[in-house]
Amino acid sequence: MSPNATEEDVAAVVARVEGVGGEAFVSKGVVRTIIGLVGDLESFHHLNLRTLRGVADVHRISDPYKLVSRQHHPDRSTVWVGPAGRQVPIGPDSFTFLAGPCAVETPEQTLAAAQMAKGAGATILRGGAYKPRTSPYAFQGLGVRGLEILADVGRATGLPVVTEVVDARDVAVVAEHADMLQVGTRNMANFGLLQAVGEAGKPVLLKRGMTATIEEWLMAAEYIAQRGNLDVVLCERGIRTFEPATRNTLDISAVPVVQATSHLPVIVDPSHAAGRKDLVVPLSRAAIAVGADGIIVDVHPEPETALCDGPQALLGADLRELAQAVRRLPSAVGRVDAGELSRTA
Ligand code: PEP
Ligand code: MN
Repeated sequence: MSPNATEEDVAAVVARVEGVGGEAFVSKGVVRTIIGLVGDLESFHHLNLRTLRGVADVHRISDPYKLVSRQHHPDRSTVWVGPAGRQVPIGPDSFTFLAGPCAVETPEQTLAAAQMAKGAGATILRGGAYKPRTSPYAFQGLGVRGLEILADVGRATGLPVVTEVVDARDVAVVAEHADMLQVGTRNMANFGLLQAVGEAGKPVLLKRGMTATIEEWLMAAEYIAQRGNLDVVLCERGIRTFEPATRNTLDISAVPVVQATSHLPVIVDPSHAAGRKDLVVPLSRAAIAVGADGIIVDVHPEPETALCDGPQALLGADLRELAQAVRRLPSAVGRVDAGELSRTA
């Protein structure tokens, strides 16, 4: 309350809070009175307490998200990806390596990229069939045909597949072909899409909006969880800053910050963060060291002909170096390769 608030002002706040079933604890200081509220946050929202006479400010102490918060779910979660019989974990005990082409272009290119990914130790295949491009003239992805190619290659290589969905109208067909649905940075706050993937019955990979705060990102996850789907994996993929040397700035501190407040797994996408292949290995090492639950990396058999994001795709010696880092480093931070924990029964 403001220093000049009267007894009646305090009593009015208490009465409004109690009127919706809440409790109000009044503590009087020499200059100020503070009122602590306990109860259902939703009902307090509608009280518009800031508009009452004598109220100086209103601060929330608890998290604004419930389902994804560690306040009510202290143990960190593991999300299982893939069909029964070959499920791969993403969570606190393992380290999961996801890799594949930025976009599905042809069956041959997708299979080659998947074999490269698998050879490097990846246990989940990525590949976009619907590409959210900045320009409407850029390659938009193969759509349903791309989903079919990705699903075929996933079966052929034994890798579960994750692919992006950019439109709520496509959620059903994407869920039919993919083991995990990706919501990209440009759609993180597309609430209709979040609700649709929340009802699709498949795990979701939710990328951080490139201008989203961590709280906004977790609120986006809450939209999915609120529709009954708690199988959400968060992906830090870089945010926009003033620095032009990299495409985005990988916010490495987001990983432990999110892990402290949310029980959901968090992975890192060094490829889309940097936009440059020379930074993918060092940023992957950083992600492992900081405690990420996995990484997702672009690979391509012929980056110079790639229809999307060629400059950040790994192959050859770079990919071998990444494979070595992923084989060696996770155990140093107490992680087991996700392949070893897979449910293959
Ligand atoms: C992608 O992973 O293919 C992609 C488009 O990523 P982002 O949404 O992070 O840009
Ligand atoms: Mn891309």
